[in-house]
Amino acid sequence: MEIKENIRKILSELPEGVKLVGAAKTRTPEEILEAIEAGLEIVGENYVQEAERAYQVIGNRAKWHMIGHLQSNKAKKAVKIFDMVETVDSMKLARALDKACAKEGRMMEILIEVNSGEEPQKAGVMPGEVISLVKDISGLEHLKIMGLMTMGPFTGDPEDARPYFQKTRKIFEEIKELDIPGVEMRYLSMGMSNSYKVALEEGANMVRIGTKIFGERFYA
Ligand SMILES: *Cc1c(COP(=O)(O)O)cnc(C)c1O
Repeated sequence: MEIKENIRKILSELPEGVKLVGAAKTRTPEEILEAIEAGLEIVGENYVQEAERAYQVIGNRAKWHMIGHLQSNKAKKAVKIFDMVETVDSMKLARALDKACAKEGRMMEILIEVNSGEEPQKAGVMPGEVISLVKDISGLEHLKIMGLMTMGPFTGDPEDARPYFQKTRKIFEEIKELDIPGVEMRYLSMGMSNSYKVALEEGANMVRIGTKIFGERFYA
């Protein structure tokens, strides 16, 4: 019940045109279905294996976004499930996805993940390298770049994330100005449960929310 109420409340409060991605890591297919019944349209998964399990139960009752780091050797499995991969951060991964999509005879919409905090241990392409990666990937036939995604450093205080959201927005606008053939800067995916309001103020139009929908996560 609570999941449904959470979804309805968040959806009613999001500005028009903003997409909600339900970040579903560690949740059961039943929990995810509850969210879908209350109006959630996009499920975000961090792991291909977990996504496969949920997809077997839920199928095309939702759109599926990959929001975790994707290894190139999982590209084949990923293209059987996902409608969008939000976390492309290298040419190697892009090539693997492109090849897997060619085999499946499909296109894949992707976002480029930006490591806006320039944290060495984190996924995402460094801010200074985003534009050249976008240009390189734009030549791949089966991928369609639709925007940018970022996490930003996590401190617990959403105000700390604001400069990183601003930085990502700036790159987003720069790429839009470049008008690169085949590249569409439509989605800016930023903000999680604690930071999405700040992200919306900084131009996000896709937010990825887990805890605020499904409750606290408990790891075994
Ligand atoms: C888990 C996760 C989220 C959502 O986090 P919450 O704090 O639970 O809202 C968003 N984006 C990514 C990439 C995640 O892994």
